[in-house]
Amino acid sequence: MPDMLKVRVARDAGFCFGVRDAIEKARETAGIHGKVYMLGDIVHNERVVAKLEQENIEVVESLDDVKDAPILFRAHGTIPEVWEAASARGLEVIDATCPLVHEIHTEIKKLHAEERKLFIIGDHGHDEVVAIQAQVPDAVVIASVKEAQAIPRFKKAGIVSQSTQMIENVQEIIGILSMKIFDLRFINTVCFPTRRNQGQIKELAPISDVMIIVGSFTSANTKRLLEVSLSMNPNSYMVEQVEDIDMSWFDAVNSVGVSAGASSPDDLIKEVVEHLKNLHVQARV
Ligand code: SF4
Repeated sequence: MPDMLKVRVARDAGFCFGVRDAIEKARETAGIHGKVYMLGDIVHNERVVAKLEQENIEVVESLDDVKDAPILFRAHGTIPEVWEAASARGLEVIDATCPLVHEIHTEIKKLHAEERKLFIIGDHGHDEVVAIQAQVPDAVVIASVKEAQAIPRFKKAGIVSQSTQMIENVQEIIGILSMKIFDLRFINTVCFPTRRNQGQIKELAPISDVMIIVGSFTSANTKRLLEVSLSMNPNSYMVEQVEDIDMSWFDAVNSVGVSAGASSPDDLIKEVVEHLKNLHVQARV
């Protein structure tokens, strides 16, 4: 006789406050001015971006495309050159940079003022990392343990991390660098919503037969949450939408845990949860 799955959802799955506030600002601005532009996607989630476009929140690739409405700078930060270019053009800028990202910019500038060699633990080319790197001259990005091992010895260095890094990856890299750097200052800038999300997944993964992480395949943050989940439960899967759920994952399964990336909207998480709750599975005996 088929059974219903026990579905547990991580308490704080989905949008972090930085993304939530940025979307709120974009909506508010579009309401006042009739339209607002965004330089690049506000979050790495196609569904959210498509929905916002219907509310006159338009994504542009260049400041040249901004006409007669403010431009919103996204939660994960913007390089100083773009700020300067917007100001030179007299554009009205709405700053939706997350305060925790601003804090990372402040910290790396302080480390620079202390004349330290600078490192950022983060993903090469990720928008947030690019903007952190642009705050100071010559900061080096380290994405992996392998890259940390290739770093030569330094007398004095300062390190920050991308806000959404996996805590274990940061710790491992710091462990390696601390053997090579005499005077090392590490500012742990993995943000608290990221730590909380990773922590909640670590609680759910061992007590769930299957783990589902909801988010866009283009979201680095969601992929990282999947990694955290996989490290504790090999039956962990990432889905962008209900249609990605595969019934073969639920053979002899009683329970499922659900979490989501910081760029996954509430309605999408709800759809996935409802779908899972209504699945009829052959439970394990
Ligand atoms: S992930 Fe953290 S730092 Fe980045 S926008 Fe969200 S709250 Fe801010």
